Amino acid sequence: MIKIALDGPSGSGKSTVAKAISGRLGIVYVDTGALYRSVGYYVRTKGKDPKNASEVEALLSEIELDVRYENGVQCVYLNGENLGDKIRQPEISMYASAVSAIPAVRAFLLETQKSIARKNNVVMDGRDIGTVILPDADVKIFMTASNEARAMRRYKELTEKGVEVKYEDVLREMIERDENDRSRAVAPAIPAEDAIIFDNSDYDLEGSIEKVIEIIKEKVGDFS
Ligand code: C5P
Repeated sequence: MIKIALDGPSGSGKSTVAKAISGRLGIVYVDTGALYRSVGYYVRTKGKDPKNASEVEALLSEIELDVRYENGVQCVYLNGENLGDKIRQPEISMYASAVSAIPAVRAFLLETQKSIARKNNVVMDGRDIGTVILPDADVKIFMTASNEARAMRRYKELTEKGVEVKYEDVLREMIERDENDRSRAVAPAIPAEDAIIFDNSDYDLEGSIEKVIEIIKEKVGDFS
């Protein structure tokens, strides 16, 4: 089994690069952020405070998440409902970040992530893949870029989807979310000691994909 861990902050291009790699190398793409977003979404629908650990913990037993691949696309089902783009709203990003700092939430999502990697060759994107979920990954890459470059990418992505946002708000929320993710006590979003750090501020999408493929080939050879 091949396991590729692709970690990094929001807007670093992880998901786009991971999707391209999944297609090129014929391996499964796992978007772990979607799981935290789904928990955040549920907490939001219940009107609970995502920072209140005991309130959030009490909801976990009501949540059943199922990750399915439909036409090669990852779909997360929450209690039987395919959440689709509902989890992509900026508000849900903040909910996801808040609930992800709660140890019980991380424990709740651990086995789902590990079991996908046990059964498939994967490229998995997240924040703690190289450190916690797949500490024995064949390749660990930590992708990052300047705050401004990341915020501009996220801004374009959201506006292209028709979500109305201001660049300044995207930048501010992104910095806040990264700070939450980096400073939390459990599974902070920091590179694994053996991760290769790739700052792609000056790379376009195709350049980032090529660079990551080069890193993978150097580590594990040409397995596609
Ligand atoms: O990657 P994405 O932006 O969809 O992730 C949403 C949030 O989920 C992140 O801000 C982070 O707080 C959390 N997350 C995490 N660990 C992961 C993936 C995501 O804590 N492996």
